[in-house]
Amino acid sequence: MFNSLSDRLTSTFKNLRGRGRLSEADIDATVREIRRALLDADVAVPVVREFTASVRERALSAEVSGALNPAQQVVKIVNDELVGILGGETRALQLAKTPPTVIMLAGLQGAGKTTLAGKLALALKEQGHTPLLVAADLQRPNAVTQLSVVAERAGVPVFAPHPGNTSGSDAETDTLIGDPVGVARDGVAEARAKQHDVVIVDTAGRLGVDQVLMQQAADIRDAVTPDEVLFVIDAMIGQDAVATAQAFLDGVDFTGVVLSKLDGDARGGAALSVARVTGRPIMFASTGEKLTDFEVFHPDRMASRILD
Ligand code: GDP
Repeated sequence: MFNSLSDRLTSTFKNLRGRGRLSEADIDATVREIRRALLDADVAVPVVREFTASVRERALSAEVSGALNPAQQVVKIVNDELVGILGGETRALQLAKTPPTVIMLAGLQGAGKTTLAGKLALALKEQGHTPLLVAADLQRPNAVTQLSVVAERAGVPVFAPHPGNTSGSDAETDTLIGDPVGVARDGVAEARAKQHDVVIVDTAGRLGVDQVLMQQAADIRDAVTPDEVLFVIDAMIGQDAVATAQAFLDGVDFTGVVLSKLDGDARGGAALSVARVTGRPIMFASTGEKLTDFEVFHPDRMASRILD
């Protein structure tokens, strides 16, 4: 991820090395290069526009200071702006004052929600929490089985409807095998009764944004009043990321974003657009298929990685 963007930006900065004070024309040329690099990385157009306008304005008004030469100053400005569009501060999970903390996952099918449920559960368990996973994705019979497999790998219990009804089937079907809102509600009640301090509710996704499913997610949210709604997005989906994120923001709202498949070789535009466009922080990154391929997202570290 970001390899090409990273190469393009660093070569742009290389051209400035050893230069004295930068003229307006130099700055404009640099900003044009940055704009092209961001657009080629699939960063959303409004984000690119805002980003480059801000870099240009700050570069033009930058004081010539003793500490940084002009090239370093431009790198610093770009770094600051990258941290800004990635959300600024690292945002930790908001835990409920009175347990259980309810975390709901939303996103398209294949985004990585079920995998993320296992990763988050494992990470929380290692921090001393006692998570319960709730299988409220009843759109595909296999989804419940998948969550149970992930729960077993993480060593955490799962609350699922009709156990035994759903195993051994790979069938993809649109037939509901239960009431997802009821399952979510019962799952949270079970967590309360059994004193789990965190509940992670997995919900159904579709290949595309779908009104029925969006309503179902909104109904689940209303039934369990989550402390966090995490929108999981596949960083590989490129240009579609922004429209998808906007649809989920309008449909269910969410408190944070999880970028999945950051280990892939996508151009990274999704990662660089979603936080700014939705105004919601990126909280975690998923970086592989193993449950340990998971990290807290730090905007400053990601910016440094891109500009390294
Ligand atoms: P869901 O439909 O949103 O629940 O998505 P899944 O969790 O089932 O993930 C869909 C596919 O993507 C599975 O094959 C996962 O193993 C894979 N996957 C999930 N997260 C990652 C990730 O961070 N990196 C990679 N490379 N694959 C992932």
